Amino acid sequence: MLDVKAVVIGAGLGGLSAAAHLARAGIDVTVLEHHSVPGGYAHEFKRGDFRFDVALHALDGAGPGGWLYPILDELGIDLAMTRLDPLYRARYPDIDILVPADLTEYRAQLESLFPLEREGIRSLIGALRRVSHDVGLYTVDRRQGTRPAPSEIPARYPAMANAFSRTWSELLGSHIGDARLRALFSTLWGYLGLPPSRVSAGLFALAWTSYHVGGGYYPAGGSQALSRAFADVVTRHAGEILYRQTVNGITVRDGTAVAVTTERGLTVDADVVISNASPVDTMRFLGTDTLPDHYVERRRADVPSLSTLVLYLGLDRDIGAEGWKGHEVFVSDTFDTDADYKAAISGDFANASMVIADYTHTDPGCAPAGKSALVILTLAPWGYADTWGTHGDLDGYRRNPRYRALKGAAGQTLLRRAERLIPGLQDSIEVMEVATPLTNHRYGLATHGSIYGREQTVDNLLVRISPKMPIPNVFLAGAWVGGGGMSAAIGSGRTAAKIVLSRFG
Ligand SMILES: Cc1cc2nc3c(=O)[nH]c(=O)nc-3n(C[C@H](O)[C@H](O)[C@H](O)COP(=O)(O)OP(=O)(O)OC[C@H]3O[C@@H](n4cnc5c(N)ncnc54)[C@H](O)[C@@H]3O)c2cc1C
Repeated sequence: MLDVKAVVIGAGLGGLSAAAHLARAGIDVTVLEHHSVPGGYAHEFKRGDFRFDVALHALDGAGPGGWLYPILDELGIDLAMTRLDPLYRARYPDIDILVPADLTEYRAQLESLFPLEREGIRSLIGALRRVSHDVGLYTVDRRQGTRPAPSEIPARYPAMANAFSRTWSELLGSHIGDARLRALFSTLWGYLGLPPSRVSAGLFALAWTSYHVGGGYYPAGGSQALSRAFADVVTRHAGEILYRQTVNGITVRDGTAVAVTTERGLTVDADVVISNASPVDTMRFLGTDTLPDHYVERRRADVPSLSTLVLYLGLDRDIGAEGWKGHEVFVSDTFDTDADYKAAISGDFANASMVIADYTHTDPGCAPAGKSALVILTLAPWGYADTWGTHGDLDGYRRNPRYRALKGAAGQTLLRRAERLIPGLQDSIEVMEVATPLTNHRYGLATHGSIYGREQTVDNLLVRISPKMPIPNVFLAGAWVGGGGMSAAIGSGRTAAKIVLSRFG
């Protein structure tokens, strides 16, 4: 074992991935986790006979050739993965299609629905693939030590440079005229938390190709199996994960972090600290007086991505056997993605698009035979009704009658909408839980309940938050630095670990 002690704050996938890479390289690692299980958002809970995945609907990059695959491989994580086919179902006012996993088939489907857009469909898919190709090239170049000057990037990686300097709607609009087709191509915008008019085209292109070319996957046993697999790598290599240890401080001496402390009075000495908590929380642990003012100001100005309102339903019937198709159904009552986003950020749950995921057939065992585990989700704001009726007082908020009323009403709104698609839904419910942005905060301390870290705008993608904090032995891992989504969080943990290993290993 190397004579280096690393403390990782948080056992979300970002923290676990960092810890697993460090432990495997022989570094003595302690992970301190607020919750009682590993995974952050990548965890499950049980109600009655049902098991619910808190978050994961579809994992990208997990198939051979995908960008997550080699990371799992190098850690010896070998989970059975189901490739989702159909990839998803898209339901708009007058369009309801099953999107095949095979991109050639999907392209043919789009061309038959929109014959006048045939050339645009082909050129757009080509453009998306070129962005993905350029980013792959850029990544390989960097790994091999080639770092072109910023002025050389447009010539060397033209599609990447172009896409990362504009919004998705700008790129999309240069190929597709029909507003309905533009919405269809943008169905996955909810995976990125910003509508086409604001999200980075580069990021959208990467996500789109990752799912539509590489595939969407669901691991056997769900996201909890994934996070447990990472946790196992940590403990197998003599690392430890201490649960119910909420970090409240990082001790800094002479400009260097020397220990991490928890609310329960634990102090763990550290040569290196990697934080899976948000940058603002990590700054709070450090004390802002240890950091340059400009850094503190910049991080405080970061806008968190949206949060979620989620209904977890155990049904006494098997809706898949009744003909309900698709693991995940995107339901939107409008082709106007800006109006949809506006509904989401204003807590207009009657109009914001929603996702209905039936896990029963992708993850056998999550519901008893003849029953269904169903999840209904919409993006939701932290600040709704003055932070869900609490006025920011989160102590014992679950007993606050105003919070309970708002949460109940929001849940009922989604249920009524889903009932129109699944008749008899409300009469079939055996168990039900509603999770709000405050629930996200309670279990995972996510800043503003955000699910993707910082908003993934063009500017934020051009200048990302560095995993290196201004304190030389403190690093960040997770969605805030690596981008939203489970695969990206895992990738960011690997990046943080590699930096640590290059300095201390
Ligand atoms: C409902 C929902 C659906 C989603 N669907 C998908 C999907 O289908 N596909 C996909 O790829 N992504 C999905 N996501 C997004 C994805 O889950 C996240 O982007 C990703 O898991 C973030 O990982 P992370 O490691 O950055 O953070 P987190 O998962 O938030 O983990 C952070 C960890 O740090 C711990 N922590 C924080 N502060 C402290 C502290 N002070 N002391 C100790 N521990 C601390 C937390 O308890 C937590 O365990 C979804 C998210 C939600 C909520």
